[in-house]
Amino acid sequence: MLKELPLLEHLKIPKKGAGDKQLMLKEFQMCKELFHQSVVDMYAKIESERLRFILLNQKKLRIEDYIHLRDAIYSNGNINELGKPTILPSSFTGGPQYMHEGTQDAMTYVRNFGRPDLFITFTCNPQWKEITDEFMARQKSHDRHNIIGTVFHLKLKSLTNLINKGKIFGTTRCFMYTVEWQKRGLPQAHILLWLQEKIHIHKIDDFISAELPNPESDPMLHGVIKTQMIHGPCGSINPLSPCMKEGECTKRYPRIFLKDTQTGHDGYPLYRRRKPEDGGYVTTKKVRGSDVEIDNR
Ligand SMILES: [Zn+2]
Repeated sequence: MLKELPLLEHLKIPKKGAGDKQLMLKEFQMCKELFHQSVVDMYAKIESERLRFILLNQKKLRIEDYIHLRDAIYSNGNINELGKPTILPSSFTGGPQYMHEGTQDAMTYVRNFGRPDLFITFTCNPQWKEITDEFMARQKSHDRHNIIGTVFHLKLKSLTNLINKGKIFGTTRCFMYTVEWQKRGLPQAHILLWLQEKIHIHKIDDFISAELPNPESDPMLHGVIKTQMIHGPCGSINPLSPCMKEGECTKRYPRIFLKDTQTGHDGYPLYRRRKPEDGGYVTTKKVRGSDVEIDNR
């Protein structure tokens, strides 16, 4: 029965409730590594079908119009030596034309609008409820890359909507992003954002915060920052932290306390990190069994 389904359908998250097709999908997606192997094989099939389409439709893709290739033919003089070239159009994801087009687009933004205003990283959290809700018996996030990919894609879409249509940073002039899969198997997006109105130095604190949020007025955000965004702890409290090299933190933590954000000479601002006396918040984190106080550093 699975054989009758189109290849991409195999990756769909099975719907709740019975039905032969849903049950088949469920069983298939319970197979852990075997499921992954099958997914990779299927994608290889899909990709080779796409390549075959390109090979058989070179006329429709108007390969004669590719300027660089025409130049090569003219400069070489001898057309016979070239053989019969097959062109991968830029619509083929991951191909050289695709990469070239992306780079050219990015350079155009920088040429026209200068440096981007914000650099945002958006990382997938395997504990997101939308992900864990779909797990079947004893499954972990690394057993179901299809859920990870789907949920991340949807969340990224709503984030870009929030930024561009919700205008949380003001009107967006343009933006771009790339998605990479980290070695531990989770996707991460890097977003560059150009705003209609540049961020004034005095307004940096309205956009970026390197501090712990108020646990009373915003307990949810405080919780997220506490569990996800605190580096280490490293240094003398935890010399075995992976960031430590020769007794120093390679990520330059802990940073210094700062009453106000300062703009550095190198274009990287030093963000406000207030002391507890100046109104900064503190929290505690467990380091090898004992509670350690964490402040804004
Ligand atoms: Zn560190």
